[in-house]
Amino acid sequence: MTIRPILIHPDPRLKKVCDPIASVTDEMKKLADDMLSTMYDAPGIGLAAPQVGILQRLIVLDCEKDDDVDPAPIVMFNPEIIHESESRSVYDEGCLSIPDQYAEVERPAEVAVRWMDRDGEIREAEFDGLWATCVQHEIDHLEGTLFIDYLKPLKRQMITRKMQKLKREMARG
Ligand code: ZN
Repeated sequence: MTIRPILIHPDPRLKKVCDPIASVTDEMKKLADDMLSTMYDAPGIGLAAPQVGILQRLIVLDCEKDDDVDPAPIVMFNPEIIHESESRSVYDEGCLSIPDQYAEVERPAEVAVRWMDRDGEIREAEFDGLWATCVQHEIDHLEGTLFIDYLKPLKRQMITRKMQKLKREMARG
């Protein structure tokens, strides 16, 4: 498995609507495995394909943070939210494409999601707590939406400027 470089905002590839996956090919399975390795290595709790420059509808997540519990990786092809609760919750969100920046985002507290798994089977499940926030954040990536898009323009611009500076520093080495 390969650790892939994660794109840093601002990048035009992070603002694109991604394409659905017709079937789970070996290439797609390899990409999912690489994304899980990349996510665990970062470390993070979720990663979407556009964050590694692939504009396809694929996300991976594992919000199990307790070290005593086995990892609980989930691979979702073509995920879609089929139900969301009236109740809302607020989380201090971050993103591997926007390193070290956090801000409160309000979203539905519970969601039901339908997706195609690694074996090509259609699955449905309900998520709450951190899992609900994470799966919505990752599905947003497939629409070219970042968590900072929910913030007030001034705050968003401040974070974007910080990221531009970070990218210049990274380019310089
Ligand atoms: Zn993200």
